[in-house]
Amino acid sequence: MTYFRALDPFPLESADHTKLHEFYTRLGAGRLSTTRCAKCGQTAWPPRGFCAECASDAFEWVDLPAEGTVHAFTVQDTGLPAGFSGPRVFAVVKVGGHRVFSILLDADPARVTLGQRVRLTPLAVAADPKGNPRWLPAFTPSA
Ligand SMILES: [Zn+2]
Repeated sequence: MTYFRALDPFPLESADHTKLHEFYTRLGAGRLSTTRCAKCGQTAWPPRGFCAECASDAFEWVDLPAEGTVHAFTVQDTGLPAGFSGPRVFAVVKVGGHRVFSILLDADPARVTLGQRVRLTPLAVAADPKGNPRWLPAFTPSA
């Protein structure tokens, strides 16, 4: 099948395309991580290759908690891209002081509430053009 980059909704995650590829490697292993500035200690979300506070490009990886809470959410019923089934629940999840825009999986839209506890569940999406797996952060309601 011909690969149409312009139609690909997912980021290229490999080391060939981003110096933040470690984020995706860790995510595929079930860890939500971000960058911490090695100079001033500021933790960023999303991960950044340079610090917004001091402009240093030296950073280290730190894991965020695997559990967070729903800060805001919305439900999409229509207009979903081909291959997606609805309804889909999108949420801003508070994790370790950061707000992560994400998808809630296995969530009944009628039962999602603000403050609800959710657990990291990395979502495997279409592989990249070379067949490498790709991941996006997603969460499921905690038991
Ligand atoms: Zn800094």
